[in-house]
Amino acid sequence: FFAKRDRESSVLYDPSREENRLSQFTLLGDLREALSENHLVVYYQPKINVSTGLVGAAEALVRWQHPSRGWISPGLFIPFAEKTGKLRGITEWVLCEVLRQQVEWQKINVNLRISVNVGVSDVEDAQFVDFVEEQLSKAGSAANLCLEITETGVMHKPDAMLQNLARLRRLGVKLSIDDFGTGYSSFAYLAKMPVNELKIDQVFVMSMNSTFESVSIVRSMIEIGHILGLKVVAEGVETIGIWQALAVMGCDEVQGYLIAKPMASQVLLDWLAEGPHQPAELTPPSMSNF
Ligand code: C2E
Ligand code: MG
Ligand code: MG
Ligand code: MG
Repeated sequence: FFAKRDRESSVLYDPSREENRLSQFTLLGDLREALSENHLVVYYQPKINVSTGLVGAAEALVRWQHPSRGWISPGLFIPFAEKTGKLRGITEWVLCEVLRQQVEWQKINVNLRISVNVGVSDVEDAQFVDFVEEQLSKAGSAANLCLEITETGVMHKPDAMLQNLARLRRLGVKLSIDDFGTGYSSFAYLAKMPVNELKIDQVFVMSMNSTFESVSIVRSMIEIGHILGLKVVAEGVETIGIWQALAVMGCDEVQGYLIAKPMASQVLLDWLAEGPHQPAELTPPSMSNF
């Protein structure tokens, strides 16, 4: 009897299944506490300009240092926060933290454009745009901000978002379409969206090693991005070979473990000081096989 019960409960609360480990009920309360007690931390992952080898930008990626559960990945708690309507608090906290950090960095002459990930529920709300405007005016000249919205999010309610996106652009905020290739973009809307950047999803980038189709798909995405006048970024670059192929195909920026993992702000500063970060193997491209 007990064995059976154990087995049943272990199905319900299998600790190896992360969504179960984070029992939804406690998580909501914990999330509130995470915000008020400063348990969230922003890590930064640099993006490298393929032609210059310089780091001009980084992506802010939030982490949750839970007092008893340890580090919790955003891939886990962001979708949960989104589902339960609690994303806004996190977005606003990350945004403020990033702007505060940029003001600090400016004092030591570090000027990086930082991308902050936002949800549809944020961008479709005019009050969120008001909030961004207010925070930007506080940060002043240090502010150098880009917002990343997933393709699925942008295409979910394109008409509703158009006005807010245009307002953000007028505030000097750059806009990026994240995880491109995983949603259902309408090219008509894509051309209409006031965005600056397109980020090719890592699924396509990572499989460039194994399938020719992926190489062709990535090449097409880069072309589409350029036709629309967008900067194209590849995320999930883990090998020199893929970096080289992307360079040959004219991709503008690369981001991935090959270059650096997301880092705490102090670690990022040390890493920047080590530069340059262009792999020595990346000599002028002479390959015709891509
Ligand atoms: P994303 O915005 O597409 O971010 C890229 C994810 O890929 C990050 O995972 C990053 O650490 C990871 N990554 C980058 N390069 C490589 C690589 O070469 N190899 C591999 N295997 N992974 C790589 P992370 O930090 O766990 O974030 C996961 C997702 O959580 C993000 O995907 C984003 O959608 C969401 N997220 C993270 N921080 C925030 C935030 O502050 N707000 C919102 N709304 N979402 C966030
Ligand atoms: Mg992103
Ligand atoms: Mg992405
Ligand atoms: Mg992603």
